Amino acid sequence: MDARRVNKNLKGKFMDFKSFENKIYLSSPTMHGDELKYMTEAFETNWMSTVGKNISEIERITCEKLGCGNAVALSCGTAALHLAVKLAGVKPGDKVFCSDMTFAATLNPVVYEGGEPVFIDTEYDTWNMDPKALEKAFEIYPEVRVVVFVNLYGTPGKLDELISVCRNHGAVMIEDAAESLGASYKGRQTGTFGAFNAISFNGNKIITGSAGGMLLTDDAYAAKKARKWSTQSRENAPWYQHEEVGYNYRMSNVVAGVVRGQYPYLEEHIARKKEIYERYKEGLKGLPVLMNPYEENIAEPNYWLSCLIIDKEAMCRQVRSDRDVLYVSEPGKTCPTEILETLARYNVEGRPIWKPMHMQPIYRMNQFITASGERLRKDDCEYTDVGADIFRRGLCLPSDIKMTEKEQKKIIEIIRSCFE
Ligand SMILES: *Cc1c(COP(=O)(O)O)cnc(C)c1O
Repeated sequence: MDARRVNKNLKGKFMDFKSFENKIYLSSPTMHGDELKYMTEAFETNWMSTVGKNISEIERITCEKLGCGNAVALSCGTAALHLAVKLAGVKPGDKVFCSDMTFAATLNPVVYEGGEPVFIDTEYDTWNMDPKALEKAFEIYPEVRVVVFVNLYGTPGKLDELISVCRNHGAVMIEDAAESLGASYKGRQTGTFGAFNAISFNGNKIITGSAGGMLLTDDAYAAKKARKWSTQSRENAPWYQHEEVGYNYRMSNVVAGVVRGQYPYLEEHIARKKEIYERYKEGLKGLPVLMNPYEENIAEPNYWLSCLIIDKEAMCRQVRSDRDVLYVSEPGKTCPTEILETLARYNVEGRPIWKPMHMQPIYRMNQFITASGERLRKDDCEYTDVGADIFRRGLCLPSDIKMTEKEQKKIIEIIRSCFE
């Protein structure tokens, strides 16, 4: 059933402007020209493989900018997370504590290794893993040795608290900084807080290589291992000699050229993203909404995506099944679906909050632990946890840095109209 026909959504219909001629994206690549120079250099010198100057340069730049000991350039962030999970020693049957409200790539690599993700609920202050829920999880499963946490939408989590819980229980930390490159916590860059960390250069991230990722670690031996695994685990012998399983995970020197060209613009991209965030904050003042929060004076996000959450009292009725959604439009109230549909009518892309993992059919049988320590599963809760609540009331706003101030003003007007 087409939800739009049922709902007769008239919100935003009577704006005195037309829909945007060029689509406004959530977050798309922004090129500057240097990328082509380094790609061409790779081509002209025939370093068209997974070896070359672009790769060694971006590994060096990453270590320098982030302050980490070693960086291993890989085909994608998911590959980095996979090698991180292997380095952390996850074995078949091992339970691993994982962020619940995140993109599935944070924890799918745990499953590649036969591990079993146990999902930890979210807190409202940064929308990341709740340290209280993590503490509860260790009370229930004291044997767990690995924790995977994410800095969602570019906002650092409560890292001090999370780290202290992990230390107290002797757990190895993996930090998924795929969305938070350039964000910092107490002056230290994200991607350096875990024993093994991942960043991503996927097309929608703060800077991109069109694809690509990196494993970051201060452990030189681990970095060497990851390098070897990522290039098919070849032993030092005259022939193809193998003693352990290998992967084809190394980054291409052409992709590294794009990353190399983007790196000088990281700070500029962050500044633009921050402007976008501040403009939304200002422009949406007076509405019953909150922007995605961060710990001021402690954390400096990279503002990768601007998001909002609608106050409970201002939510119209919205019902979601696994794949469909219906809502009832009401004066003075709205819901994420209505805002997203209204934006779409003007050729503007937004997105629902990343649907929590404990609500995903593939992970329905996995354990899920909230701050009250309940071992909730899909069949014994009505999704009254924090993650489900943010998912129900929240959405990601268009945060593309090529969006002009004028375009953003119109988008803010469209959003405001949904509350009329
Ligand atoms: C993008 C992303 C990844 C995966 O990175 P790829 O480079 O696309 O493999 C992992 N975790 C999070 C949170 C992401 O947003």
